[in-house]
Amino acid sequence: MSTIRIDNVRKSFGGFEVVHGVSLDIADGEFVILVGPSGCGKSTLLRMIAGLESISSGNVVVDDLVINRLPPRERDIAMVFQSYALYPHMTVRRNMAFSLKLAGAPKGDIDRQVQAAAEILDLVSLLERKPAQLSGGQRQRVAMGRAIVRNPKLFLFDEPLSNLDAKLRVQMRSEIKELHQRLRTTTVYVTHDQVEAMTMADRIVVMNAGRIEQAGTPMDLYEKPASLFVAAFIGSPSMNLIHGRIEDSAFLSDAGARIPLAANAPVTSDPVVLGVRPESLHVGGVGPAFGECRLRVVEPMGSETLLAATLLSGGDGAHGGGENIMILSRVKERYAADTTVRVGADPGEFHFF
Ligand code: ATP
Repeated sequence: MSTIRIDNVRKSFGGFEVVHGVSLDIADGEFVILVGPSGCGKSTLLRMIAGLESISSGNVVVDDLVINRLPPRERDIAMVFQSYALYPHMTVRRNMAFSLKLAGAPKGDIDRQVQAAAEILDLVSLLERKPAQLSGGQRQRVAMGRAIVRNPKLFLFDEPLSNLDAKLRVQMRSEIKELHQRLRTTTVYVTHDQVEAMTMADRIVVMNAGRIEQAGTPMDLYEKPASLFVAAFIGSPSMNLIHGRIEDSAFLSDAGARIPLAANAPVTSDPVVLGVRPESLHVGGVGPAFGECRLRVVEPMGSETLLAATLLSGGDGAHGGGENIMILSRVKERYAADTTVRVGADPGEFHFF
């Protein structure tokens, strides 16, 4: 088990800097997820920890040892890739045993460790198969098996679930989480999927354009996004963002809808963006008035219904608006498209940027 300190790490490719001085401390046993849009530098940061990419400046410190110049095989880190990177001509057993064999471990130890990992990952009946004879989820499990047999200091995952279908992704998500709860190995996991990040991480690090936008627990980021970027990135469906300004304890949208605010709303004459999560909007009478909305599209999803709506007027009744908003209703009710409804919200749940 290990701690990681990333200290002002930069990375340039051909004179072009893509990671701009990132600092991050990761605690022993922590499961940290790096998220962000394509190209934000999360894989590059992970690959620098693994030693697959050189560090242009700054330090990566594992347990008080600067590992910048250590070759990957001396870092005691196991990495699981999106592509699984299994050896196609080897059986599952040999794939899992490979790194231990390379390290010269005694055969008895290798057999024991492969067996233990196979039991944890439910691979015992598949040990004599080759990768081509496995499903995507099983291959992913073998890739994880190969990582855990070594009992490394750190696990690194680079978008390990991207090649799986939606259902399998959900299943593997909980398997990885369970594995972490069992082994408590310090883990850094890269994904662009904010749902994966929300459901699996002890701490999420949101990256944008080579920098950390915000780091915190999933609930911290969900409840207190520090920037518009994080607000828009975390949460599914994403937060509604309405541009306007604050005037006389109300929010006045650029299109003219007036939405009453709580007494503790910020006072500013600058342009602001009001953020409200789709699940904080309630069709019908719950909460003070947010406004009147025309329902455009109704998408029942079983336990919830997603509603695409247009704001017709703000809560104080004056007409104006026209903004497209999303509402997530958890009430069992049939909604009809092309109807006008009152929408309530607790102004305490509004965000301002
Ligand atoms: P994705 O989710 O698409 O994998 P990412 O956040 O992991 O994105 P990186 O792969 O870390 O992003 O890439 C960060 C930036 O560095 C991108 O602009 C990318 O084009 C650039 N980059 C990555 N690897 C190289 C390389 N070997 N040579 C030049 N530029 C690179």
